[in-house]
Amino acid sequence: MPLPKTVEVLLPVALDRTLTYAVPDGLELAPGDVVVAPLGSRAQIGVVWDGAGEAVDGARLKTLEGRVPATGLAGPMRRFVDWIADYTLAPRGQVLRMALRGLADETPPPPKTGFRATGAAPSRLTPAREKVLAAAADGVVRPKARLAEAAGVSASVVDGLAAEGALELTPLPPPPPQQQPDPARPGPKLTPHQAHAAEALRRAVADGQYRVVLIDGVTGSGKTEVYCEAVAEALSRGRQTLVMAPEIALTVPFLDRFAKRFGVRPAVWHASVGDMGRTAVRRGVADGSIRAVVAARSGLFLPFRELGLIVVDEEHDAAYKQEDGVLYNARDMAVLRGRLEGAPVVLASATPSLESRVNAERGRYAKLALPARFGGRAMPEIAAIDMRVAGPPRGEWLAPRLVSAIAQTLSAGEQALLFLNRRGYAPLTLCRRCGHRMKCPNCSAWLVEHRFRASLVCHHCGHSGPTPDACPACGAADALVALGPGVERIRDEAAARFPEARISILSSDVMGAGERLAAELDAIERGAVDIVIGTQMVTKGHHFPKLTLVGAVDADFALGAADPRAAERTFQMLQQVTGRAGRGDRPGRALLQTFDPDHPAIRALVAGDREGFYAVETEARKAAMMPPFGRLAAVIVTAPAREAAEAHGRALARAAPKVEGIRVLGPAEAPLAMVRGRHRMRLLAQAPRTFDLPAYMRAWLAAAPQPRGGVRVAVDVDPQSF
Ligand code: ADP
Ligand code: ZN
Repeated sequence: MPLPKTVEVLLPVALDRTLTYAVPDGLELAPGDVVVAPLGSRAQIGVVWDGAGEAVDGARLKTLEGRVPATGLAGPMRRFVDWIADYTLAPRGQVLRMALRGLADETPPPPKTGFRATGAAPSRLTPAREKVLAAAADGVVRPKARLAEAAGVSASVVDGLAAEGALELTPLPPPPPQQQPDPARPGPKLTPHQAHAAEALRRAVADGQYRVVLIDGVTGSGKTEVYCEAVAEALSRGRQTLVMAPEIALTVPFLDRFAKRFGVRPAVWHASVGDMGRTAVRRGVADGSIRAVVAARSGLFLPFRELGLIVVDEEHDAAYKQEDGVLYNARDMAVLRGRLEGAPVVLASATPSLESRVNAERGRYAKLALPARFGGRAMPEIAAIDMRVAGPPRGEWLAPRLVSAIAQTLSAGEQALLFLNRRGYAPLTLCRRCGHRMKCPNCSAWLVEHRFRASLVCHHCGHSGPTPDACPACGAADALVALGPGVERIRDEAAARFPEARISILSSDVMGAGERLAAELDAIERGAVDIVIGTQMVTKGHHFPKLTLVGAVDADFALGAADPRAAERTFQMLQQVTGRAGRGDRPGRALLQTFDPDHPAIRALVAGDREGFYAVETEARKAAMMPPFGRLAAVIVTAPAREAAEAHGRALARAAPKVEGIRVLGPAEAPLAMVRGRHRMRLLAQAPRTFDLPAYMRAWLAAAPQPRGGVRVAVDVDPQSF
């Protein structure tokens, strides 16, 4: 008996290797095809992968059920999946799952038909038949149900008329073609700096080759206008474009900007887009009918047919790192996708990551600078308020100087923005009587009071319950007090001080990412809001012309963290949020409430000395061999019992291969010691910049004892905080 023909199939499950299947007779398959494969007792969608099927014992071999008429994964996409899995140590099947989102059967629908009057008279004319013929008299072709509905009769009447030849079945006219973005529409007249940058980008797109360009432009310098020129170039060459934003909220304002420039909105792809929308977008990018997509991280996995440009806006943003499942950084993977597709990648930021700056210095990325704001607008004046000596009275959070600045701003008919990176009302609830603190039962975190929802919520696991009236520990009534501010509390304080002001809260839990957010952003832009209070959601990307004052309620929010990236993160976030001020015709200013006015990040912000800050930060990282001057990978060990996590962590530490130049630290408690009822220990591997750390991690895990008894191990290459 001849051996059956076999193929290797990768399945979107937590498996790294491909499985070998027999191909049914008469089925021709190529790598990338989508197939249905039996797996255990189920049938599972999978993708034919590269490599010849292994000759395995024919009797044990399972046979594929068939091919799915859907766009599969072209060569570059399969390499992309392989590469990400290799780099992040995630099972390949888990990466594949991301690339199959929105996958749908693409069998072309049967041609739609409808009925039209022929002019022939039926043998018998009943009132119902008369109604149908009257409805059809306009000559429009309608499906049966629609025609019956228009006439107000049952569908059988239509059948009867058709049987007698008074109506005939005919194809429906095709739907009008989708309106496409028009790159020929004129853009704004660019300033000389912008024109220079735009020209360089257009050339990169015209070359149609992989390269990375970093646009380093201050807030309000017109980065978006500049990369829209690159988008125009790609569109006019018939290439598709992908613009990425770190957060869903940021895709919203971009839609309108894009529409203003190109006449129609781009397609949108992110976690809140429903299944139908996803299916439509995946199909559209695959068949080429969708030319432009704006997306959050996962848009990187779309099967573009002819990708000609990837833009990563706010490239420094930590939100590009996916923190569960496959731990990848979408900025870095965008660069990889560009390389595999032969497409240029544009990274844009007012505060580029140290990583990208170093890549530009080393000549790996081209750099384009936009050093000034558009229209000669000044950068905002930034001042610090020393909360140790000029803070507010107890129980309030806005210093007198900030309050009077808000008052001035409002009386001038301008807008103020108060930034606090903390959702909810108060970060901690405590019993005044017994000192009990309301803590999450599953995590090492306090419960955050959300007063609008009247509940206490854990921001890590989502645990939530009603805010109790009495202390759950000592039973004292009315003894629970809220400590510290969240945005909701700042809103109350602002509302008490400025009862006439129209106040809006922008935070993900209040706004979501849909129409509600879009309407609110629009209201702010129009000036229908006086005071905006927001979390990091408001810090970047938005353009509010009436906004002239930014107050950072707690400018030190990340400075205390042990994370060596804390200073960079704080600097970037404050630079971004202060950059919202003075983007219209009136100058802006910003006030930073701080307990540490001498911190280099705060000092650099006040002095407007961005390069000075980066220089200090660069030296510190170099000295400590921290990224981007060294490499890091973390191993997180979790278990329901702390002892189990710790014991496995120690076993891992013992198993670490001894390699010159590699340091292994830990196990130590992870920054969040417990999440969702699991204790977390962490080990860190530190290596020189050019070392192949993923390979080392793979060898390490292979040499270590396998986790048992509820212990889980995850590897995080290039962790965001360390
Ligand atoms: P950035 O992305 O660098 O913060 P934007 O692209 O949002 O800056 O530009 C800031 C504002 O200036 C926007 O309202 C934008 O439309 C406007 N702008 C920038 N460049 C020009 C230009 N050349 N002509 C007209 N308006 C411009
Ligand atoms: Zn929790």
